[in-house]
Order: sequence, then structure tokens, then C-alpha cells
Amino acid sequence: AKENGRNGYFFYHIDMQQQVNERVQIEHALRTGLDNNEFYMVYQPQVNDLNQTIGFEALLRWDSHELGLVSPDRFIPITEETGLIEPLGLWVMKESFAQLKVWQDMGIPSYFQGVAINISPYQFAKEGFVQQVLEAVESIGVDPHLIDLEITEGMLVKNIPLVTSKMQALIDIGIRFSIDDFGTAYSSLRYLQYFPLDQLKIDQSFIRDLTDDPASQVIVNTILSMAGHMQLSVLAEGVETDREKNILQTLGCKRFQGYYFARPLDKDMATRFLFENTSL
Ligand code: C2E
Ligand code: CA
Ligand code: CA
Ligand code: CA
Repeated sequence: AKENGRNGYFFYHIDMQQQVNERVQIEHALRTGLDNNEFYMVYQPQVNDLNQTIGFEALLRWDSHELGLVSPDRFIPITEETGLIEPLGLWVMKESFAQLKVWQDMGIPSYFQGVAINISPYQFAKEGFVQQVLEAVESIGVDPHLIDLEITEGMLVKNIPLVTSKMQALIDIGIRFSIDDFGTAYSSLRYLQYFPLDQLKIDQSFIRDLTDDPASQVIVNTILSMAGHMQLSVLAEGVETDREKNILQTLGCKRFQGYYFARPLDKDMATRFLFENTSL
């Protein structure tokens, strides 16, 4: 008998199986990765309208002995489901603080505002999170005013009093908060006013469409004017071309990050980028 869409089902099935296998492989490799020193951080420059390096976003890299380089988009969700994000997130924080301390001791330029670290919602939700940050800041001796924690909109809708009190405890020592991937979860836009935020990072999907989609220009424009009223800074992510940068600048955006300025750099290249202000 002739089966309807037999190939479709067959390939779908194989695909599912492959995905499951890959997941199991990644999960297995992750469990030994931290002990084996398979992780390292890279730092992507954030620049202002004067082309000064005002910060770096710390991004995690995993060069697995078993699997080779695996993208964070593939392994972070697995660390979140398995709880491995806890030790890994703590490692990311300490590693980034230690690097920041190196830069701090070298005498950073006055316009440099520090390092942004991605915080997983699972990590933030943990009871000991605030204490972990405070302890790491203390033991590493890093200036908390140079720390920017990137959180996502989704995190804000859960338990407003608890989330704000955790944020406030860190803001009290000078740490700043940015909303990452802003604009991808419209539902929580109205919650923004309740939180002590410093910056919105416009998601790269809007930047990507900027040059040929008038709707994206309207959205970016709206974000910029809303943020202006709320005294929030705005950083555009994923800027890849001169045209994108120019449109953003015309719309009043003053902070940028993306391949047009620099790729994520290893710590030595980032150091040179910061202190020699060279374009690599
Ligand atoms: P994200 O926080 O939105 O990070 C920005 C991503 O966009 C990075 O990918 C960066 O390399 C990439 N990117 C930067 N500029 C451009 C550009 O001009 N064009 C394009 N196409 N891409 C650009 P990456 O490093 O692969 O990270 C992917 C995601 O993984 C991050 O998205 C973040 O959600 C997560 N992630 C990375 N490192 C960490 C970490 O240390 N902790 C946690 N919890 N999540 C992390
Ligand atoms: Ca981020
Ligand atoms: Ca982002
Ligand atoms: Ca992202």
C-alpha cells in the first residue's frame, strides 16, 4: 500500500533520534567539561558613538575534548535542564570577574564601564545567587561598578517582589542590570517600570531587518524613545554593517555591539582592543 508522506515521517523519525543522541552526548561531555578545563571566555567589545570601547560582553566558549567546539545556544539549554548551569554559571562569573580585575589593575580608561555577564534565569532564581555574587566580588576584589548583569525579560514576570529585592541587593553595591534580547518577549513590556534597570539591549533580529523593513525602524525608534523617558540606556546588538550603524545613529542610538565593530575576542586580543584602541 502506498503510504502517505512516508518519507516525511521516516526522516522526521531519524531526525528526532539524532537530536536525542546529540543531547545525550552533549550532556555526558558537559559533566566532565568543567573539570577538564574545556571552557573559556571571549569578550566582545561594546562601543559608543565616539568609537570608544565602553565595555565587553563576556561570552562562554566550550571546546569539548569529545565534540569539538559546541555553540552556547546548543549547550546552555542542556545545562539549564540538568542543573549544570549552577557550577558553570558560577565559573563564568568568577572567570569574568578575574579578567575584569586584571583590566582594573592596568588602569582602565574613564569611559570604560566594565564587563557584561549573561545570567541564566535558573541561576538567578537560585536561593544563594546574591550571596554568590557578593562573595565573588569580595574575594576577587573587583569594582562592582564595573559589573553589568544581563538578564532576560522572561525573568521579570515571575515573582516581582523577590526579583526586585535580589536585584536591589546587588544594585546597592553598584552592580548594573541590562535586559538582554529586548523586544523578543513583548508581553512583559509593561513590567519594565517596576525594575531597577540600567540598559536595554535591542535584540539583533530587529537590527538585521533595519535596512529594508520599515516596521523594524519603527520598533527600534519606539524602544529608543520609551527608554529615553525611563532614563534607560539602549545598546544595539548584532550590528554587522555600516548602514545598520548609520540608521541606528540617526535614530539616536549611542551604544553598539556587533561584528561590524569586533567579533568576540580572546582575553589578550580584548586587552589590546581596550588599551590600544586599535581596530583588529
Ligand atoms: P546573546 O547573549 O544574545 O549573545 C550575543 C550572541 O550574538 C553571541 O553569540 C555573539 O557572538 C553573537 N553576535 C555578536 N555580534 C554579532 C553580529 O554582528 N552578528 C551575528 N550574527 N551574531 C553576533 P554566542 O556567543 O554564540 O552566544 C549565544 C547565546 O548563548 C548568547 O546570546 C547567550 O544567550 C548564551 N550565552 C553565551 N555565553 C553565556 C554565558 O556565559 N552564560 C549564559 N547563561 N548564557 C550564555
Ligand atoms: Ca547577552
Ligand atoms: Ca542578546
Ligand atoms: Ca540571544
